[in-house]
Amino acid sequence: MALYQDQQLKVTNSLSGKKETFVPLNSPNVGMYVCGPTVYSDVHLGNCRTFISFDMIYRYLSHLGYKVRYVRNITDAGHLENDADEGEDKIAKKARLEQLEPMEIVQRYTVDFRNIMSSFNALPPSIEPTATGHIVEQIAMIEEIMDKGLAYEVKGSVYFDVNKYNKETHYGILSGRNIEELISGTRDLDGQSEKRSPIDFALWKKASPMHIMRWPSPWSVGFPGWHLECSVMSSKYLGQEFDIHGGGMDLKFPHHECEIAQNHAANGKHAVKYWLHTNMLTLNGQRMSKSTGNTVLPGELFTGNNKLLVKGFAPSVVRFFMMQAHYSSMLDFSNDALLAAEKGYFRLMDALKNLDKITPAQSSNFDVTAWRQKCYDAMNDDFNSPILIAHIFDAVKAINAATDGKQQFNKQDLALLKETLSGFVFDILGLANTAETNSDSKKLDAAMNVLIAMRNRARNDKNWALSDAIRDELLANGIVLKDGKDGTTYSVE
Ligand code: AMP
Ligand code: ZN
Repeated sequence: MALYQDQQLKVTNSLSGKKETFVPLNSPNVGMYVCGPTVYSDVHLGNCRTFISFDMIYRYLSHLGYKVRYVRNITDAGHLENDADEGEDKIAKKARLEQLEPMEIVQRYTVDFRNIMSSFNALPPSIEPTATGHIVEQIAMIEEIMDKGLAYEVKGSVYFDVNKYNKETHYGILSGRNIEELISGTRDLDGQSEKRSPIDFALWKKASPMHIMRWPSPWSVGFPGWHLECSVMSSKYLGQEFDIHGGGMDLKFPHHECEIAQNHAANGKHAVKYWLHTNMLTLNGQRMSKSTGNTVLPGELFTGNNKLLVKGFAPSVVRFFMMQAHYSSMLDFSNDALLAAEKGYFRLMDALKNLDKITPAQSSNFDVTAWRQKCYDAMNDDFNSPILIAHIFDAVKAINAATDGKQQFNKQDLALLKETLSGFVFDILGLANTAETNSDSKKLDAAMNVLIAMRNRARNDKNWALSDAIRDELLANGIVLKDGKDGTTYSVE
């Protein structure tokens, strides 16, 4: 029996604002689409948080036994500097500034993005389609929307008719906005805009002579509007109706609202069953964002080359830091928060190492089966990773107590504990055991082995003053020595 038949997953659907039981449209298949990066500059840690959250969601769905098709696009054209269909294309602008081909920019930042994701141990999506690879399909969807009378052409550009759509279908169901509010919120363009209404959005834009990223279409040589690619690529690879659509909260409006309208206009269906939105990573209380420059880059974090950081942090420590918050809660980045996460992460890795050293007892005094179900309950409750981590640390305490002889596990429980911990820590939270490879930690291990050997020599020589001094001074520095039947181990508290 597949795990998903035993475990009842609930997800918070941004469309209803409620926690809903997760029932895939075509179980055991699950279709999940996540808006990917616009590849015109380095991804910052905020972007990474969103993609790492969806990686954890993808991992848990797969762990439950679902056959997940995970589509995450690469935006390599059509994303203008301004949400109101104005300004230069972000990629074309970078290409102009750096005197490179737009596709050189796209290539560089796509490769960087993939490398960063893999350093965070994020699994690659099943399909990673690009906007420029789907121009033909985007033109076809515009034609479908025009056939339904919900888009119009002006001077070679095509716009979505929001007012007309709203008469038939409510525009604003995801973001909770209504069009009167939206119209009064847009600035007066003094009749300069070719749009019938300021809230209409572009499906196709005629390229100005300066615009280098351009394709032929029935209306003009131009380029697709940003929102269109996601409607097109999600329906192409997941069908007109699919299970999960994700992205950061900042994409709810206008991007996801426009996607909903485009899909419904083209085929009369609300494409997405569950909308999931991740919350923002903040720095000094402000959203991390490329446009304000309030960012930390992953590379700076790994090397410690940033004035906010006292040192570098391993990618798994950063991932652990992120997993300590629920994906839908804000999370503030700071050096202190990372130091605390690092302590917790090493404590966890130490406990996992010690787990192999526990000798099974005749009976258990820790209910591993009940504990395991609590871990699942946490994840079934809208992927509640912080609660899961709290349960994992109950097991850490029990493991540490067992190495001190204060807790015992029988053979069966010990095997179940190992299997469950490895499943949740490595497969679902996606942490890598970098404690083994982290050079600082290797050095610490080596130094500790020297100190433990010196202490053993002192004890053999009955030099209690020296052996106690080694233990006490280490303790004063947060390192605890534990004497067990199999020798002395240490942990960093
Ligand atoms: P972009 O490349 O700007 O389209 O952003 C890629 C993804 O990162 C989107 O899903 C955004 O919602 C998300 N994102 C941007 N800033 C942050 C942040 N500070 N915290 C979390 N996610 C973010
Ligand atoms: Zn998108």
